[in-house]
Amino acid sequence: MTLEFCSFSSGSNGNCYLIKSETTAILVDAGISTKRIVSGLSSTNTSSGQLAALLLTHEHSDHVKSLSVLMRKFGDVLAYANEKTWAAINQSIDRSRMKNFTTGTSFEIGDIGVNTFQVCHDAADPVGYSFFKAGKQISILTDTGCIEEGMLDEIREADLLVLEANHDVDMLKIGRYPWFLKKRILGDKGHLSNESAAKMLVRLLSEKDKKRRILLAHLSRENNFPEMAYQTVKNILEEENYYIGKHVELDTIIRDEMSILYQV
Ligand SMILES: [Zn+2]
Ligand SMILES: [Zn+2]
Repeated sequence: MTLEFCSFSSGSNGNCYLIKSETTAILVDAGISTKRIVSGLSSTNTSSGQLAALLLTHEHSDHVKSLSVLMRKFGDVLAYANEKTWAAINQSIDRSRMKNFTTGTSFEIGDIGVNTFQVCHDAADPVGYSFFKAGKQISILTDTGCIEEGMLDEIREADLLVLEANHDVDMLKIGRYPWFLKKRILGDKGHLSNESAAKMLVRLLSEKDKKRRILLAHLSRENNFPEMAYQTVKNILEEENYYIGKHVELDTIIRDEMSILYQV
């Protein structure tokens, strides 16, 4: 085992992911209750001593809701975000434990390397993350309305990619959301649709022959469901002669449930 990944929750109801090596554990986002995070840590046999850092993607409440409570509960944990994200978060946190990075830079937490990269989302300075250890890579790309070259460069080598498949465009269009919200979600700074996620995957697979595991994530409650996300991606991959099990492994993260512990 080099790196492990578990989703404690994914979607607009709250996001929190765990990345861990044998010695170091990192949380990405704290958008669910501390109680659920504690229970996730215990089900994955992660001790509080192992938990070194909390990394934030952006300031929306489904990603930072429990930040200050979590920081108080785990007195040794450092929280990382870029400057604009910190400025947009209105919670009281011990300043000495707030770490700043510039988007696009890399750093290390314990024995895990971390890359940060820009995504397209209507937040102050939203980021995606890649994690590295011993030649293995886990990348997280959610909350992005578009895919740019720079992002592809970041995730191309990922052994495990957490990829947003937020909505089905038709379900969203005929759904009950108000028009301004539909426009926001569909826009370049909104969220990635099932179809756009699939097209990006086709491109990744065509560029590099590498077996990867893709976890479809951040599914909308209103405008998607797991079978729809999975089937849409599967269909588009098969149209291009890429098959699940042969060229790629594909799973869907269920919104409110803890995922299994994946290993790369
Ligand atoms: Zn979100
Ligand atoms: Zn967001």
